[in-house]
Amino acid sequence: MAKASERKGLRTDERECCAAERKRQLDSIRLNFVTFPVIRSVPCPVCKMVLKIRVYERPTADATA
Ligand SMILES: [Zn+2]
Repeated sequence: MAKASERKGLRTDERECCAAERKRQLDSIRLNFVTFPVIRSVPCPVCKMVLKIRVYERPTADATA
């Protein structure tokens, strides 16, 4: 069994699970939030690492105006 929590050093890269969760959170914020900035700390459901989600302004949608 690998101990995922053993390493506590600063990470420069993001795990795949965290990247997927971050994207999910960002998508959710874009869909559901009307006021910005939105700053949240969300634990990754896979590795339990806390992801800092920050959206400072309303994302400009390229496809839909
Ligand atoms: Zn993760």
